[in-house]
Amino acid sequence: MSDGAEGRVALVTGGSRGIGRAIALRLASSGHPVAVNYARQPEAAAAVVEEIGRSGGRAVAYKADVSDGDQVSAMFASVEADLGPVTVLVNNAGITADNLLLRMSADDFDRVIATNLKSVYVCTRLALRPMLRAHWGRVVSIASVAGITGNAGQSNYAASKAGMIGFSKAVSKEVGSRGITVNVVAPGFIATDLTEDLSQGVKDEAVRRTALRRFGEADEVAGAVEFLVSDAASYISGQVLAVDGGLAL
Ligand code: NAP
Repeated sequence: MSDGAEGRVALVTGGSRGIGRAIALRLASSGHPVAVNYARQPEAAAAVVEEIGRSGGRAVAYKADVSDGDQVSAMFASVEADLGPVTVLVNNAGITADNLLLRMSADDFDRVIATNLKSVYVCTRLALRPMLRAHWGRVVSIASVAGITGNAGQSNYAASKAGMIGFSKAVSKEVGSRGITVNVVAPGFIATDLTEDLSQGVKDEAVRRTALRRFGEADEVAGAVEFLVSDAASYISGQVLAVDGGLAL
């Protein structure tokens, strides 16, 4: 890529599987050194690092629970020591714990908010320091169409994703004058481990409601992220880009 991605260290949270893995591979192939964050499955993160290495890129895996400020702080320090200061942050790590509200436990509500939303506060705050020093930065958070349209059985998840959108718009106004853009990508139904366990009925209904009549691929989300972190997107900030095959119309 011709936009100077070579020196720009990218941290992808939840970069070991699914959409995060596709983003890590894309950003590495466009020249970014990539920090691949994971929480529980070191083998998956190691496989991504190996794949990037085989293609001539540079990547290191980092274990940290993104909802834990101390672990994330230690991760940022390690990334800076190993690869350099982070100037591209992709807040991708996320979980679901679906249930109708009347059956949803407080623990399931808190866990989803902590992993999907508090993590964005924790990671973005730490990433802003090197970005402010560089007078350049890119933050992209992976929300969901559920945060725009809502989805029955996902009040915790939809709240976390809607929160990411409000957070990103607010921060984009705080840091825009310093050359930092803050955007959101909102995927629809993408084929990953997260959607693997949906019942066939739910999958069929999702396809029926999607204009393109299919699930998306993780790499189709990664392409949008690659664009938003590139110099081609230098005048785009505070936006929500739906990558959903025409689901949330
Ligand atoms: P996935 O296949 O389940 O992968 C989740 C990734 O997040 C894994 O790398 C996992 O690492 C990591 N992770 C989970 N909890 C973490 C934590 N506390 N700290 C650090 N890493 C953690 O999920 P996906 O489908 O790729 O989804 C990625 C993002 O896209 C999520 O934010 C999700 O909400 C969003 N999204 C997905 C879809 C979809 O249809 N798939 C649609 C809309 C939005 P470990 O394996 O090590 O735990």
